[in-house]
Amino acid sequence: MSVEAAPARAKKPVEYEATVTEVRRDTHDTVTLFLDLEGAPRDYKAGQFLNIDPHQFPALARLCAYLQEHKGRREPIRSYSLASAPHEPRLAITVKDEEFIPGLTQYPPLLSPYLVHGHLVGTRMKVTGFLGPYVLPEDVTQRTDHLVHLVAGSGAVPNFSILKDALHRELPLRHTFLFSNKTWGDILYRDELAALERAHPERLRVVHTLTRETDASHFGPTVRKGRVGQALLEELLPDFETCLVYACGPAITPWDRRKALETRTPATPRFIEAVLGHLHALGIPDKRIKRETYG
Ligand SMILES: Cc1cc2nc3c(=O)[nH]c(=O)nc-3n(C[C@H](O)[C@H](O)[C@H](O)COP(=O)(O)OP(=O)(O)OC[C@H]3O[C@@H](n4cnc5c(N)ncnc54)[C@H](O)[C@@H]3O)c2cc1C
Repeated sequence: MSVEAAPARAKKPVEYEATVTEVRRDTHDTVTLFLDLEGAPRDYKAGQFLNIDPHQFPALARLCAYLQEHKGRREPIRSYSLASAPHEPRLAITVKDEEFIPGLTQYPPLLSPYLVHGHLVGTRMKVTGFLGPYVLPEDVTQRTDHLVHLVAGSGAVPNFSILKDALHRELPLRHTFLFSNKTWGDILYRDELAALERAHPERLRVVHTLTRETDASHFGPTVRKGRVGQALLEELLPDFETCLVYACGPAITPWDRRKALETRTPATPRFIEAVLGHLHALGIPDKRIKRETYG
């Protein structure tokens, strides 16, 4: 009963010419870009991503060259999960502006600030897709009746697509969408999630956890204070032996690992390492946990 055994037919990625038709601001640092692929087929699976090569944008050429000189390697493509679901008429990605914290962050981020702040409506860009095994297996309903979405920040993007797709296809699954953010204002798709919950009360339960919210009026049974901890998981996953967990969010980066090796200090666990620790402590085996890491 391994989730990893999903028969995801690995298709060769295709390059598409996309036009940005709308930029919707979701939060102070995050936007959703709606893309028109000029009638090209959009045969992606919910949970998959597309790639964007930063070298194609003249506005980024100098920063790209500068970073490459300093890092000593070519800047790689960046991946963005589809925020839309296959049944929806418009293809969308949601992009969070990566932070630059002087003294802490080694290099300024390259592509996400441009996608978020570049006023890109009408811009044409090449995208490659669609890729990634973070999808539901065809026989998901034989494996479980409870899908647990365990996500943080922009890690909600592929799970939002999976959730919309599963509800649209009327798969006989219950969903728990456990979403960690810093503050109430950081929550992506807040209204859409609430609307889905109202439309499918028997199928969907959304619970937020906020780590840095100072306004106590937001807290209640469905909005908890603090990080996702073991007690909350125990409360929400009484069926931990049969549920399937799809976890997506920040994890220790390769740069963190390198620094940890150099300084001989263990890298600080991020969302994915922390929740995996809790899930394992609960007794949920790895084969019932599918994960995707950002960062
Ligand atoms: C499968 C997948 C799906 C994703 N989906 C989404 C999504 O839906 N939405 C979203 O917002 N993001 C998503 N991401 C993350 C996205 O691909 C980018 O990583 C993110 O947008 C940051 O890119 P950037 O060019 O802005 O920053 P980058 O230029 O990549 O910099 C990011 C950080 O890495 C550090 N860094 C970069 N290179 C080095 C180096 N050589 N040494 C040390 N530090 C370095 C920088 O200092 C900075 O802190 C996804 C990632 C993956 C793998």
